[in-house]
Amino acid sequence: MSRFTPDTIERVREAADIVEIVSAYTDLRRQGERFVGLCPFHEERTPSFSVKPRDGFYYCFGCEAGGDTIRFVQEKEGLGFADAVEALADRYGVEVERESEDPKAEEARRRRGRLGEVLERVAAFYESYLWESPKAAKARAYLIEERGLGEEILRGFGVGFAPSAWDSILTRGQRAGFSVDELLAAGLIQRSQKTPGSHYDRFRGRITFPVRDHRGRVVGFGARGMGPDAKPKYLNSPESEVYRKSRTLYGIDRARGPIARGGRAVVVEGYTDVIALHGAGVEETVAVMGTAITPDQLKLLGGYAEEVVLALDADRAGREAMLRAQRVAGSGRLRLLVAAMPEGEDPADMMRTEGGSNRLRGLLADAVDLAVFHVRAILDDADLTTPPGRDRALDEVVPVLVGMGETITRQEMVREVADRLDAAPELVASRMKSGRSRPEPRPEPMTAPRPAGAGEQKQPRPRRREPTQEERREAMMLALCMDAPETAAPYLDRLGPDHFTSPILRSVFERIRERPDDPLEGLGESESALINAITRLRALDHEPATKDDLEFRWMLLERDRLDRALRHPEGLEPADLVAMQKQRGRLADAISSVEARGIGGAVPGPAAR
Ligand SMILES: [Zn+2]
Repeated sequence: MSRFTPDTIERVREAADIVEIVSAYTDLRRQGERFVGLCPFHEERTPSFSVKPRDGFYYCFGCEAGGDTIRFVQEKEGLGFADAVEALADRYGVEVERESEDPKAEEARRRRGRLGEVLERVAAFYESYLWESPKAAKARAYLIEERGLGEEILRGFGVGFAPSAWDSILTRGQRAGFSVDELLAAGLIQRSQKTPGSHYDRFRGRITFPVRDHRGRVVGFGARGMGPDAKPKYLNSPESEVYRKSRTLYGIDRARGPIARGGRAVVVEGYTDVIALHGAGVEETVAVMGTAITPDQLKLLGGYAEEVVLALDADRAGREAMLRAQRVAGSGRLRLLVAAMPEGEDPADMMRTEGGSNRLRGLLADAVDLAVFHVRAILDDADLTTPPGRDRALDEVVPVLVGMGETITRQEMVREVADRLDAAPELVASRMKSGRSRPEPRPEPMTAPRPAGAGEQKQPRPRRREPTQEERREAMMLALCMDAPETAAPYLDRLGPDHFTSPILRSVFERIRERPDDPLEGLGESESALINAITRLRALDHEPATKDDLEFRWMLLERDRLDRALRHPEGLEPADLVAMQKQRGRLADAISSVEARGIGGAVPGPAAR
């Protein structure tokens, strides 16, 4: 489908009256330069919803819903982005223009092609190095003897070994015609902290697992260190133009067919688990990149499977990952099941034991519904020795039972719950009828604390951490950069990910750098955490961003960064250490002289409280 011209979207945003649009759903009251009211996205008694007409944004401090007019229409009217734009254009008389060929998109596509090519080549190089170099003998021994993986299946997955030299890829890559910038963008090399302007290989002396997308294209690597002191044990490609962790499942290229044929996907945690299971014929296995399964990953699986079996560690982290999966799965048609792995034994280990393959198949076949798993987890964690403890457990299980729909499984679970709580099944059933289900917590809180009295107080939500002083300064810098992208351009260049201490602010930063003019453009449903964070930052109160202000804010962030680095001087050369201390001193002087003049006094707004 052809895209709208950026100009069209801009004109729609300008023409649409956000106060008018929102007012159709809730009463708004003016308060200074914003409008406030009860949130149309969650139940509340005190208003935590605010609209800033000047910027065309809304934001709820209670449930963190936020965005621009287009997003509001998307959410409230259940429309996709394109439909929402068209609906608004219609309503406000904006002429829609589409572009047939977007040169920017074409350029991006060409670049992705280049990055894909270099990743492909490096994967092939690592693979041949594993099998041919004497220096990879230990790695081969580890994979084959220790992990019990066969050569054929290892080759099937393209497992390799990265030489320990600092410049294997840097040199070879450039010789093959790739620029340093491309190698950086592909996540294959990194900038040297010690010698500015120089670079070195990201993966050195590590077993490499190429991560492929569903079409089999290499998008990144996971790399396991050798020996017990390797730190970190697993080093992964950074997020990049081609690699998005949240959208990738390790093994999906090979598992896709088997999943579609059998209707079932098995999700495990590790690279070697996937390889071991495929080797044992459980070819519908994939791994999540990290512990939590994301909505995008479920969507990807939903394209092939009706049933997803989560075979994750039964320890607390694994358990939480499974419960999070239930939240992100929402009411999709995908059935989520849990096969609880015995503690301390991952699937790859199990395959190596006598009869392990059958044991694992048994566990997969016995997988229980995620909701059943959830109910049992609540009961296991609850204090069932006292009536108030049992009441609390009942409070917690009721919404889960309600969410199960009218099924035989639920009927059985009601009996099980009543039994374990030593209560009459009728009590459980009547509580379910009174519909005491709670709203699902939203994922990924950012840094701002929730104002007291906002939102529903029934269930204590996980308490949000107070933002640190550093985070407040980082947030303000980002807000100013969005406010004046042109003035901020040189600062965006000078800033790096290590100027930001929280992952979400780091993502916002990368996003702003990618799309300084409109960081929200093109973000989809699955990126709601990022959308919320951006919206929240845009809602921060501050004076219009000036160059002086940006310069001052930049100095604060640079000082914070140096402080963090100086707190761990172990790996630094003495000369660097001295230089950094000097620089830190100069910054501190400059900052105090600015403060003395009274510049840089941006007011912290609600999100920075
Ligand atoms: Zn809300």
